[in-house]
Amino acid sequence: MPHSLVEPAGSRLIASLTTNPTHQEWLEQALQLALHNRQQGGRPFAALLVRDNQLVTSAVNGMHQDGDPTRHAELEALRQASQVGPLAGAIVYASGHPCPMCLSALVMNGIAAVYYAFDNEDAAPFGFDSTAAYQKLGLPLAPPPLPLIKLPSPLAAAELYGAPDHA
Ligand SMILES: [Zn+2]
Repeated sequence: MPHSLVEPAGSRLIASLTTNPTHQEWLEQALQLALHNRQQGGRPFAALLVRDNQLVTSAVNGMHQDGDPTRHAELEALRQASQVGPLAGAIVYASGHPCPMCLSALVMNGIAAVYYAFDNEDAAPFGFDSTAAYQKLGLPLAPPPLPLIKLPSPLAAAELYGAPDHA
């Protein structure tokens, strides 16, 4: 049974950033941000860019703000992080498996690894699947162009991607 991510966003964010977060903990921050973005009317995606286990930037999908379809969380994180330092060697924690647009940008900028929670199979029932784009582009993911590591999520896919409550 899923737990803990229903508590208010923010409290755990601050708490775990004061310690030495694990990959799993960083990823859970991204999941919380993604859920929060969904609750704010955005798409349920977020990404953190981390260097030397220090947070460089966190970002959410910004498409709902101005309709710009390139405002995926990973690209937003790269844009923000590029203003404060080098990108190569950083690690990205993304709530969902990167789409080909984002994955290309991550590879081209030397990101060392991507950790994510939900893959395309998890997202497909909710319409957040980029498999078709990968196929059109002829981009196989085996072998992956950089380490793409799926970690468990304390949140079920339906909790993040499913129809929001109409309370
Ligand atoms: Zn993307």
